[in-house]
Amino acid sequence: MKSRQIILAVVGIGILGVAGWLAVRGWRSGPDTKDFPDGIAWLCTDAGCGEAFVVTLDGMSDYFLAHPDHQAMPCPRCGGLNTVRAVRCPDCGRYYPRALLRTSGTGCPYCAEARSASEPLQ
Ligand SMILES: [Zn+2]
Ligand SMILES: [Zn+2]
Repeated sequence: MKSRQIILAVVGIGILGVAGWLAVRGWRSGPDTKDFPDGIAWLCTDAGCGEAFVVTLDGMSDYFLAHPDHQAMPCPRCGGLNTVRAVRCPDCGRYYPRALLRTSGTGCPYCAEARSASEPLQ
């Protein structure tokens, strides 16, 4: 009985150690610096604007340091704060909300729209 408890304790410590190591590794590499060497893409979700813009990591950190209560970059076109992180479609070059990339594998709503429009209606 005692040796079993020791084994459980060792396994538990091992799992904690691996989890901690992964957390440190993930934090060190950073989620964005590798994927976006030129900066972070943002998209204005304001109806009638829809401006896409790219902000450098330095520019973002400067802005969020100056505005710690803000969660998003202001739109350079309309000045609104209704902006979301965006990704650039490798096919059509347009920007779309990053949230779409996570939910649907292929992502780009513009390409999906073009595809469905070119398909003959049944
Ligand atoms: Zn805007
Ligand atoms: Zn596209």
